[in-house]
Amino acid sequence: MILASPPPLVCLDPGHGTPPAIGRQAEPIGPGSGVLKIKDGGGASGEAVVNLAIAKKTRTLLLRRGYRVAMTRTGPVFSYGNGGNIARAQFCNRQHAALMLRIHADGANDRSLRGFATLYPAWHKGWTDDIYTRSLKAARLVQAATVRSTGAADRGLVKRTDLTGFNWANVPAILTECGFMSNPTERRLLQSSAYEWKVARGLTAGSAAFISR
Ligand SMILES: [Zn+2]
Repeated sequence: MILASPPPLVCLDPGHGTPPAIGRQAEPIGPGSGVLKIKDGGGASGEAVVNLAIAKKTRTLLLRRGYRVAMTRTGPVFSYGNGGNIARAQFCNRQHAALMLRIHADGANDRSLRGFATLYPAWHKGWTDDIYTRSLKAARLVQAATVRSTGAADRGLVKRTDLTGFNWANVPAILTECGFMSNPTERRLLQSSAYEWKVARGLTAGSAAFISR
């Protein structure tokens, strides 16, 4: 008898939502690192709600395509494990995710800044050497698909050495900055269901293109 393997799983990680008392605690940015970073700075104003709304729509579309989906939070509060970015990565590791898709929105003092960017882990021996190449591939595909589906300004790919949620991940991991909450026009878009669906369609198409490779 041949047992069919289960469909690939996408781990969606809507950013923030950590209770402030926990969010202010520090954790090492990578295994064995002496560099500590707070678990959750809270994000841009209004961001946590938008991240979750986009994640839920993306979940709907991924399930429709036959993928399995796990989410680090499905409500306003993130409380898995000890509630940090290590916990978020470990949650997705434990699911053996084909992709960890971290969903965020940006904020800046310069209110004119706008557009969509995808972050991916820099190569670091012992931390990300196992996921670097595949994460970069996923970043390229998700960035292209979502710029296409939204018409957002293309801010490109950003390599990051300092993201705890990347450095603890053992599955390919990327982080999308879906727009700027600090830009009045983009904030209005990000808070509209129609635009959130456009973002979700791009995230889904990009993830599917990556997984099917
Ligand atoms: Zn954020």
